[in-house]
Amino acid sequence: MQYVPFGNLGFDVSRLGFGCMRLPLTEQDGKKAPDTDRAVALIREGIDGGINYVDTAYPYHDGQSEVIVGLALKDGYRERVKLATKLPCWMVNTRADMDRLLDEQLKKLQVPYVDFYLLHALGRDRWEKMKSLGALEFLDSAVKDGRIRYPAFSFHDEYDVFADIITSYDWCMAQIQYNYLDINHQAGDRGIELARQRGVPLVIMEGLRGGALAKPSDDIRAIMDAYPEKRGPVEWAFRFLGNEPQIATILSGMSDEAQLRDNLRIFNDVKVNCLSDGDKALIAELRAGYQRRMPIGCTGCEYCLPCPKGVAIPRNFRTYNELNMFDRLADFPRRYQDFVKENADAGRCVRCGACEKQCPQHLPIRDWLQTVHKAGTAGK
Ligand code: SF4
Ligand code: SF4
Repeated sequence: MQYVPFGNLGFDVSRLGFGCMRLPLTEQDGKKAPDTDRAVALIREGIDGGINYVDTAYPYHDGQSEVIVGLALKDGYRERVKLATKLPCWMVNTRADMDRLLDEQLKKLQVPYVDFYLLHALGRDRWEKMKSLGALEFLDSAVKDGRIRYPAFSFHDEYDVFADIITSYDWCMAQIQYNYLDINHQAGDRGIELARQRGVPLVIMEGLRGGALAKPSDDIRAIMDAYPEKRGPVEWAFRFLGNEPQIATILSGMSDEAQLRDNLRIFNDVKVNCLSDGDKALIAELRAGYQRRMPIGCTGCEYCLPCPKGVAIPRNFRTYNELNMFDRLADFPRRYQDFVKENADAGRCVRCGACEKQCPQHLPIRDWLQTVHKAGTAGK
């Protein structure tokens, strides 16, 4: 396992971090619940195997993840790791809520302080709300009174929002969604470059795109198989991330012993600048293979917005493309309902054509929206 300095904070972290959002489950009264004993043993096995960064959050496992992490970190394990948890921003309505939630989390974790405390899942609206409620002053005061060591944030939105957030405060870390398909999505490559300029180390989530990159279709698998160096899809996805020096730790939500052991094996050999030119070309080829499976050539640039009818054009396209890419189009009607609920679905298009005049890709947006709407309402 490689360990790298965490920015200039004065300690090193393991490249593999333990994400505690998908702990082992068991059946209780006909319902799935975390298997506490097994989860504790799994986290400890990870730490014994070299992991020294553990990430949890208030909502994981319906609030049980923090409790389990607290148990796992007893018996001397706490001192061996950096511990991260997150403020559930959506539960915050006042400045006092922030103190109350942090105190509750420390109690559940049975610790006097956490190393990293993240504003959880910031996007444009949530960031504005948290600022107006005094979240930055709260972070300063929680550092001062010793309940947290390093203020940070996790992020899900477009690059311009990331740029605004990362340049608005003296963050010790940013946690972003990134993988070899998402180089131009959310924070993306531009976000990594900006983090480098700001000296903010990154922690990565969704490195396997919610597990999708671990199960490639046959045509993508064939590209990997034809490459002289034989590695599996998970290995290539992690090596791509590990190659990047600005990335400190890569989180993996590990659910069983086999997965943990496989990850530890993979990370034996994941290092900064570990990719050869040939490896990089392979990953570019894999990305192109996935992109070929995306029928709509939308880049997500958003020049077509706003639509006067409120259609979330790039998001409708992206969801449709992604499900196509992973052979899961049957799930599309269910996902499309989210757009319908937001009044942002493709079906609201009145074919005025304003968006097409703005599209640098010259996409027939109106026709594609029709296709998307048809797929979204299939069977209705
Ligand atoms: S053509 Fe449809 S999607 Fe495009 S701007 Fe007009 S209403 Fe919106
Ligand atoms: S302008 Fe075109 S490429 Fe850009 S987001 Fe809109 S549809 Fe996609």
